[in-house]
Amino acid sequence: MPVLSRRAFFASTLAVTAACRAWPGGAQSRTTRLILLGTGGGPRPRKASSAPAQVIVSNNVAYVVDCGDGVARQLVFAGIPLTTLRHVFITHQHSDHNADYGNLIWLAWAAGLSTRVDAWGPPPLEKMTKLFFEMNSYDIDTRISNEGRVPLVPLVHVHEIRDGGTVMSDDNVKVTAALVDHPPVVPAFAYRFDAHDRSIVISGDTSPSDNLVKLARGADVLVHSVMYPPAIDRLVARVPNAAALKASILAHQTSAEDAGRVAQAAGVKMLVLSHLVPADDPEVTERMWIDAAQSHFRGTVILGKDLLSI
Ligand SMILES: [Zn+2]
Repeated sequence: MPVLSRRAFFASTLAVTAACRAWPGGAQSRTTRLILLGTGGGPRPRKASSAPAQVIVSNNVAYVVDCGDGVARQLVFAGIPLTTLRHVFITHQHSDHNADYGNLIWLAWAAGLSTRVDAWGPPPLEKMTKLFFEMNSYDIDTRISNEGRVPLVPLVHVHEIRDGGTVMSDDNVKVTAALVDHPPVVPAFAYRFDAHDRSIVISGDTSPSDNLVKLARGADVLVHSVMYPPAIDRLVARVPNAAALKASILAHQTSAEDAGRVAQAAGVKMLVLSHLVPADDPEVTERMWIDAAQSHFRGTVILGKDLLSI
């Protein structure tokens, strides 16, 4: 087994163990947990990391933020019952964040979900949802008539978000959105979850954002998308549209150093580096990511890994 994949295997095995401890056989827990489901940035499927997604579990209710490729399976690996899916939040309409949005809800339903799901995110979320169910109506209708499942479409309630502010609140969490800077994808949001025991902020994709600093003020955990600029040339060298892709990444993402600046300005306790760009460059070590972020941030820095429970 090559060194990289062996290391990735052990890392994911450890993380699976950690995530399973967070959900001890479905026992009731009032502790709010964050599990990173996918930590690699960009839609290209990779061996070592899944596409961006995370779940916040509070009072045994699952709040999924972003739905990169494979999110339903990552939830299974994390030991989160798909039937506990209650809310889905999309930060912005890029395929590494939404490719499995419909699939998550559809497959959770196929796994036994029979209760309401609310989906929140920028337009055209309503159209995407409607067309997704239309595209898959043959399977959905067949399972309703053949397997006695409840109709899926009436379970799903879509809420398009166009501006920052309070998104929703329930017995477990209050969710607030802020507009972040990820042109040309507009609007793009960060979300803050305030639970009874901790506050968790997910940045979505953004260049260094004052709105994000305000949103994350005093939070316990900030999960920030990051890039490592010296490695971007190696990353884009693999694709035909290298020049345009490089310009886009550098203009619309945040370096690990700047993520440290954002975390320091916001006064958060912990910075979690995720949506790593590049996610699979062996020349960018764990130490390099963490050192870059720590050069401007005095709190705890964690390098995100798939299925890490925080
Ligand atoms: Zn994006």
